[in-house]
This record gives sequence, C-alpha cells and structure tokens, in this order.
Amino acid sequence: MIHYRASWIVSVSDPPMRDGWIAVEQGRIAAVTKRPPANGGHLIDLGEVAVMPGLVNAHTHLELSYLRDEVPPASEFVSWIREVMAARRRRPDPQSREILDAIDRALAESSACGTAVVGDISNTLVSFAPLTRSALAGVVFYELIRFNAADPQGFVDAAWEEVNRLVPTDRVRATLAAHAPYSVAPLVFRAIRQAITRDPFAPTSVHLAESVEEVEFIRTGGGSWRRLLEDLGVWDPSWVPPGGSPVKFLDDSGFLDGRVLAVHGVQMSRDDLDRLAARGTTLVTCPRSNGHTGAGAPPIADFYRSGVRVAIGTDSLASSPDLNVFAELATMRALAPDIPAATLIDSATRQGARALGFDGDYGTIEPGKRSRLLAVALPSSNIDVEEYLVGGIEPEQIRWIGEN
Ligand SMILES: [Zn+2]
Repeated sequence: MIHYRASWIVSVSDPPMRDGWIAVEQGRIAAVTKRPPANGGHLIDLGEVAVMPGLVNAHTHLELSYLRDEVPPASEFVSWIREVMAARRRRPDPQSREILDAIDRALAESSACGTAVVGDISNTLVSFAPLTRSALAGVVFYELIRFNAADPQGFVDAAWEEVNRLVPTDRVRATLAAHAPYSVAPLVFRAIRQAITRDPFAPTSVHLAESVEEVEFIRTGGGSWRRLLEDLGVWDPSWVPPGGSPVKFLDDSGFLDGRVLAVHGVQMSRDDLDRLAARGTTLVTCPRSNGHTGAGAPPIADFYRSGVRVAIGTDSLASSPDLNVFAELATMRALAPDIPAATLIDSATRQGARALGFDGDYGTIEPGKRSRLLAVALPSSNIDVEEYLVGGIEPEQIRWIGEN
C-alpha cells in the first residue's frame, strides 16, 4: 500500500480536498481521506500539487498525427476538408512507417499531457495495435464514410466483422462510428445503429453540426458540400435533403441516444441542444480545432445551459497544435468565463470516461478505480485550485502517480 499526501485532491466526484491522502494498492485506489494513515504502508508527500484523475481526450484521430502543421488554417470549413483530403492522398499507405511513427509519438505526447483515456477515430484501424501497447486506455471508433452506398448493409456488416476480429484488452476496445450526416448515407447510419446494438455497451460517434456548410447542405441539399460530393464523384441523385437541422435529421433517423458521442456542435441551436440533452447524447467539444478549420467558435456556455452532457477532445493534429486537453480547457475558460471551473474539469474527466464506457476505471478519484492519477505542480496551496487547472497546464507541470 502507498499513501500519497497532496496539498489538494481534486477527485471530481467530491469538492476539492485540502491536504488529503490517497491510498493506492495494486494499481487501484483504496481510500481517499483527510486524515493521515494510521499504520502501515509507504508514505509519499507530493508537496504542492493537485492530484486529479487522468484526463479523457474524447475525440482525436491518432492516424492523422503525421499531418501535424501540414494543413494551414482555413476561413471556410469545406476548403479545409479539401486540403486534408489532398494531404491524405499524398500518403495512401496507412501502414507506412511515417504514419505509424507519428501515432506512437502522439500516444507519448498524450500521456505527457496528462491524458489517460482516448476516443480515437480511425478510418483504417491502424491505431488499434499501437494503442494496446501504450499506457493509455481507449475506444477506437472505426469510422465509416460512404455517401453513395450500393449495398449499405453489406458495407457496414463487413466493417463490423473487421472490428470484431480485433482482440480487445481490458483497456482498449473498438466499435463503429459514422463520419457525418453529409458524408454518410441514411441507410448506412441505420445499419451502423443496428450493428452496434448487438453489443450492449458499444458507444458510437458522429461529427455533427460542425460547420455552416453542413447545416446548409442538410437543409437545402446545396452549397459547397454538394459541390465537393459532386467533385468526388459520389453524389447520389436520389438523395433527398431532409430539411431542418443536422441534429433533427439524425434524431428523426433514430440514431441519437446515450451511446452516441456527437462531436463539435458549433452550429447547434438551442432546440438541437435540447434534443441531445433529452436523448442523453454526449456532446464532445474541440474548440481549438473549430478555430483552425473555419467552423467557428463553439457556444460553450449554451452547451452547459442546455443541460447536455459535455466532454472534450483535441481533434487531430491536422487541426490542433498539440494533444493537450488542458489547453482545450483554457480555451473553453476563455470562451465561457461564467461556467464554473469544476464543471469544465468534470467534462475533461468524468463525462468523457462515461461516454466512452470507462467510468468504472477512470474519470474520478474513488475507491476501486484505477489509480492512473496526475500530480499537477501548483505555484502555491493558497489558490482556487479548480480555476488554476483550467488556466492552461503544461506537460512540465505534470507527473503520473499511483501506478504501482
Ligand atoms: Zn474529428
């Protein structure tokens, strides 16, 4: 048994505790107490630190890490997507050394930034094996993109078989996801929903209401998305624009429920947010990526006011400068100065763990959970510790504790 003393314990499940003790045994949290341990064990005084749960990066694309600094910022989202597609076409082999090495570096960077769990989007499943070899836990979402599908059921069934050929570990699982309402046919959405329903715990994911171009396309069937689909030769002339919002479209299709991580939501209306809240869907916000891709600034305060569950992602290194979830928190703090810091921290930990199905092991400091904990160096104990933690924490301030 190891007993850690810290000037602050930010458990997320309870208010921050000043001068607390955490007992750890065999990789699990045994106790969180105000009093020093009575007998036995190894005592470690961590000093002026806040101990908190490892963070959850609920949306990233590890396989795009090789595109770091390659896709410049855009003022219009579809232009940005065109640039990403062109960059990916220049390296068609997903198993290339360059792509695999970048994934390993991204995993190491994630750990150095305090991330314990990732929700990773992959179009190739190439990130699954590296993730199992890393210190991180996570869900790999095998993301399907198919607007014009000749055999939607066969397409999805084949992908589901690929997912099921992967051997899950106690920390890494795989499931299916849909890319977005403008790039996935309605019958593919339906088949994905049917496939994952065979697994009682499988989450799924979709990029949703990210850009004004998406909203226009779902409402009218026109605009720059339509032109992109035509340019790619995948336009389906039988597709009928659903009208209404992207959220209404997926909700009316029966896709949205508590299993779904809906990513971005920059263009969601109050009605859209109410729908997500009613369905128990988790909204994953990636504010720095939204700024880079031309999607705009997410309405962070509206998200929380609606009561929707909010988790946080960095998105990929193609649209984000690094994989530091603490930096996303600082951006959220700047965008929503009235939201309590504790609420933002809850999004970066417990909400992400819950959405990914890892809340039994991660997300809070409670007895029985894995002791994959962060000690964040503080300038002083006499601070508003939660406010400090959402002000921008650098990797140099972080170290992992509790792993033995
Ligand atoms: Zn994404």
